[in-house]
Amino acid sequence: MSNESAAQIAVELADQAAQSPHQRLMASGHERPEGDRCPICFDLIELPVAKHSTNNVCCMKRVCNGCDLAATQRGMLDRCPFCRTPIPDNNASTLVMIQKRVSKGDADAIKVLGEQYFHGKLGVAKDVTRAIELWTEAAELGSIDAHYELGRAYYTGDGVEEDKLRGIRHWQQAAMKGHEPSRHNLGALNMITMETTNLLCSTG
Ligand SMILES: [Zn+2]
Ligand SMILES: [Zn+2]
Repeated sequence: MSNESAAQIAVELADQAAQSPHQRLMASGHERPEGDRCPICFDLIELPVAKHSTNNVCCMKRVCNGCDLAATQRGMLDRCPFCRTPIPDNNASTLVMIQKRVSKGDADAIKVLGEQYFHGKLGVAKDVTRAIELWTEAAELGSIDAHYELGRAYYTGDGVEEDKLRGIRHWQQAAMKGHEPSRHNLGALNMITMETTNLLCSTG
């Protein structure tokens, strides 16, 4: 290899290393995450995902409203349309199902359990500290929704000490994997304030 081409490669590597998180964000996450795909029809669920699908705690599979309706029309009224487990009809059984999946290390289940602690739902006493712990664990295990929730909590100081930079970092993690609400939030912040833009460029 000539000295000239070696020097060129060194310059390119330095350029890549110098890319800010903002640039990395712009270069990645343009595809929807696989978790946004209905496991029955394999179509991407319409946005916003939560409005156009139902998450089933038995298998933690998010099924699109179309497949849910088709299952209902076939008479499957009280079972999960994906795994056919009977749908729990009270808070205690729902919680048991979530905890069963949590014990298997299911990142989505850990994120969902965190939600129950954050809001004090399904008969769980509200405990924001526990919710943040669970979301952090879920995020480490790959839940991009958990990164989103952590981003929201830290950015707005909802239940935790406000830490905007930390919140933005969590949204960045989710956004780089194509999480639409996180990309939306970061985009909106960019439009609102140059201060945030500078903050974004200095993170990572
Ligand atoms: Zn479907
Ligand atoms: Zn199921």
